[in-house]
Amino acid sequence: MDKLKTGIGIEDCSGCGACQSVCPQKCVSFEKDQYGFNKPKFSDKCVDCGLCARSCPQNAANLSRLEFKRPEGVYSAVSKSAEILAESSSGGAFSEIAKVFCDDETVIFGAAFDGDFSVKIDCVEGLNNIAPLRKSKYVQPEPNIAHARAKEFLKKGRRVLYAGTPCQIAALRLVLGGDNPNLLTLDFSCHGFGSPMVFRRYIEEKQREFSKKIVGFSFREKARRGFNYSVTSTAFLFEDGSRVVNFKDILYKGFVRAFFKCDACSKCPYARGERISDITMADFWGIEFMDSSLQAGKGVSLVLANTKKGMEIVEKLKDSMSIKEREFSPSVKKNTPLISPVKASPFRERFFESIKTDTVENSIRKLLPPKTLKSHILRIFYLLPVRMQIAMTKFVRGLARRK
Ligand SMILES: Cc1cc2nc3c(=O)[nH]c(=O)nc-3n(C[C@H](O)[C@H](O)[C@H](O)COP(=O)(O)OP(=O)(O)OC[C@H]3O[C@@H](n4cnc5c(N)ncnc54)[C@H](O)[C@@H]3O)c2cc1C
Repeated sequence: MDKLKTGIGIEDCSGCGACQSVCPQKCVSFEKDQYGFNKPKFSDKCVDCGLCARSCPQNAANLSRLEFKRPEGVYSAVSKSAEILAESSSGGAFSEIAKVFCDDETVIFGAAFDGDFSVKIDCVEGLNNIAPLRKSKYVQPEPNIAHARAKEFLKKGRRVLYAGTPCQIAALRLVLGGDNPNLLTLDFSCHGFGSPMVFRRYIEEKQREFSKKIVGFSFREKARRGFNYSVTSTAFLFEDGSRVVNFKDILYKGFVRAFFKCDACSKCPYARGERISDITMADFWGIEFMDSSLQAGKGVSLVLANTKKGMEIVEKLKDSMSIKEREFSPSVKKNTPLISPVKASPFRERFFESIKTDTVENSIRKLLPPKTLKSHILRIFYLLPVRMQIAMTKFVRGLARRK
């Protein structure tokens, strides 16, 4: 297959937009591929200067120019603010880190929904405007020149907090050509992007089903059944102000099974224990079994402090978050993307073939494995109070040891 000007195959592009940020000829635009992912297109104004190839985080030749760091500190962290916990996907690390790093002048980059349910990398000034950037949107953002904008702010001496996927942070480092004392970077454990086209079609299907306009969507709903259930629970907000929580959202199931995952993410060079940001955030899956004294029900962040800057920030989090130091290996055991990339489903092609003639919902349902006795037992298990789950796990482990 032909290579892009960035030196990679088109299937390896994650759509971070770094090439567009650095192009002096402004010859890079993006168009959707057949799966709905953003892929770059280079106009004939291109003069082959090679800047885009040197800024592309997916170009293997650039990996040696990035500094990968083994985390210096590993922590569980839970915000002490009930409001922040409720508005965050995990334990609220993103908002609490922003609180200690930012003042009213700091520029904060993150992902926000646009009016039409596309996702964009946006920036806001000051903490008071951070709300749209909160919470995970499991969709590929529409590429823009966010990296170039961050570079401009830093050039002017502004402080910048930049949160994004590992590939977006790697792109920023390549665009900047190194670190900057006014910059703090946050990435997260990343399963990979879902297709924006699939997400938009799902929203349209749900609008037809409910016969009302959807004006807001939350990929992670933990208010009613807690953190562990937030990985299958979503919430729709309608124009008339009503809200519907979907405890077993089918889109989420398809996302977790990687039916409509970005092809590049299956080979992500950043899904590993060595990190390229100052701080890595993640969901702390399994923490309730490691430490039953922790109140895990509303969400717990796994925080990896990867640099001296990151360690200094974590030190300052101790007032606003309940923080405890942890061991690396047991903490990442249930968090695959901190070990290796999550592969796309073998049913990916069948899924995209199916949505040509059927709904997104039906196409996911058709490909889900049939329910087994084990899956029924697990479903009931996760409905039990956490204390009972822990007691039962200890009991079963005890039985297994005796055998
Ligand atoms: C596509 C994707 C896949 C993920 N996969 C995993 C995983 O497999 N395991 C895991 O433990 N955690 C994963 N996460 C991270 C996790 O869901 C939480 O976002 C993270 O733990 C931070 O939560 P929080 O409570 O600190 O704050 P939150 O307020 O929830 O912070 C969310 C942060 O993510 C940024 N963000 C949201 N959507 C996007 C996007 N599409 N592109 C770039 N940045 C975005 C926001 O700007 C914000 O900085 C994923 C996130 C995304 C967006």
